[in-house]
Amino acid sequence: MVTNDLINVYKNEELALEAFREYRLRKGIACKKCGCKDHYWLASKHQFQCKKCKFRTTLQSGTLLEGSKLPVSYFFIGLHLLIRNEQSLTVEEFQKHTGHKYTEPLYDLLRKIKTYVRNNDPNSILIDFIEVANQKIFISKAV
Ligand SMILES: [Zn+2]
Repeated sequence: MVTNDLINVYKNEELALEAFREYRLRKGIACKKCGCKDHYWLASKHQFQCKKCKFRTTLQSGTLLEGSKLPVSYFFIGLHLLIRNEQSLTVEEFQKHTGHKYTEPLYDLLRKIKTYVRNNDPNSILIDFIEVANQKIFISKAV
């Protein structure tokens, strides 16, 4: 089934990081220190660096993942399940799909994802993800 295939794509942390970066670039990143909007991407650190003052912004900073040590893929897994299940998702099911050991951090993330879905169009970020995934597949086929 298509939905089962998709969830495995969303579980790919490497793709998730890239999709989240695309999403942030599309929304625009403003340096917290000087307000500059131009940034370099430090791939090895997964951080943006301000072109003007060199201040670094983590991928998660200023988003619902700020302060969270959970993989970025959990955000996409949660979004996907929420949309698929028509906005209802229990922490137990979320845990089953992420395979995470503890429920406590998942509770917190799930609550934030639900708020995100209420206030944003969740499809646009998922489309970013699929585009990134398709590019990867395209590149790996071309090589
Ligand atoms: Zn700056």
